[in-house]
Amino acid sequence: VAFPTETVYGLGADATNTSAVRGIYSAKGRPSDNPLIVHIADLDMLDSLKASMPQTAAFSEAMQRYDTLISKFWPGPLTLLFPRPDGVLSDLVTAGLDTVGLRMPGTALARSLIKLAARPIAAPSANSSTKPSPTLASHVYDDLAGKIEYILDGGACGVGVESTVVDGLSSPPVVLRPGGVSIEEIRECAGWEGVVVGYKDESQVGKEAPRAPGMKYKHYSPDARVVLFEAGVPLDISPEAEQRGSVGVVSTTSWRPPYQIASHPSSVPEAEEIIHVEGSSESETKLVFSKVGEGRIWVQLGCTSEQVATGLFAALRGMDRLGVRTVFVEGVSDGGAGAAVMNRLRKAASVVVKS
Ligand code: AMP
Ligand code: MG
Repeated sequence: VAFPTETVYGLGADATNTSAVRGIYSAKGRPSDNPLIVHIADLDMLDSLKASMPQTAAFSEAMQRYDTLISKFWPGPLTLLFPRPDGVLSDLVTAGLDTVGLRMPGTALARSLIKLAARPIAAPSANSSTKPSPTLASHVYDDLAGKIEYILDGGACGVGVESTVVDGLSSPPVVLRPGGVSIEEIRECAGWEGVVVGYKDESQVGKEAPRAPGMKYKHYSPDARVVLFEAGVPLDISPEAEQRGSVGVVSTTSWRPPYQIASHPSSVPEAEEIIHVEGSSESETKLVFSKVGEGRIWVQLGCTSEQVATGLFAALRGMDRLGVRTVFVEGVSDGGAGAAVMNRLRKAASVVVKS
């Protein structure tokens, strides 16, 4: 069952049932060595899982530090690693690791589903593996129709990127994946001043600019080829890209489309043509895809990194729906919510253009 959370739509199954969990991997085409995050409804569920974890001194110490984060960020876009509870979860959930990532999602719909199921729910993002994560029910339908039982439609996801994954069992504690809670916010919490970055994204892998196609790092990828410009680098559409076919531009803080952006939501930009690819319900992402020239589509994501995160995956998916072959994306700076956005974009990009 796919369900909305505040981050992205999840594909949920009973985390204690191996055949249910196997269904997640097969519907998504997910490699079996990539573990699933387990979602809980409330702190009672956490306590009952904790009761089956090895009760060492190191465990109690880690749990004390987790309490600070849990009281501040749960329910919310933060996944914490715990020792794998003994004999509770399907082995497929943890993919052979001795830890499990737990999260209490922010939407009432998600927590109600878990509460009604009365068991922990394993749920990765509800997209086909390698595709951008789904932030609308229609995205889930596009990828998984016919492969899953149900989609609960809760409108657009507010955060738009996945949860931050934190390993507080190791010393120093490590952010394994940037996400909806920033490392700066975590660092502000007592006992978490020393948290370090433990992930790599494209910018740390290669230093040459622009980068050669790096297919092996592909994740979060639309069908269109993604060319990412680091923050501050001006848009430059190559003749080669125009020869490949229709070109899309996703702008954020400074690239400006060749038409006036409407500041009032009920008025429309003065573009040649407005293409609404998203649903019309009030709660859904209101991205306006504008045809700004022959074979050229533009979408503006807003100016803050939070706004960019909310619309990012819908923008990439929208470009595919419109038949765009190459999409040029304006990056944002890496601080705060920008870290998760840039991590996803660097993984989606075939080319990263630096200044
Ligand atoms: P998804 O649910 O598709 O957003 O992916 C979950 C992410 O959390 C993946 O990057 C996993 O590799 C990571 N993850 C889940 N459980 C663990 C774990 N026990 N240890 C390390 N990473 C994990
Ligand atoms: Mg995913």
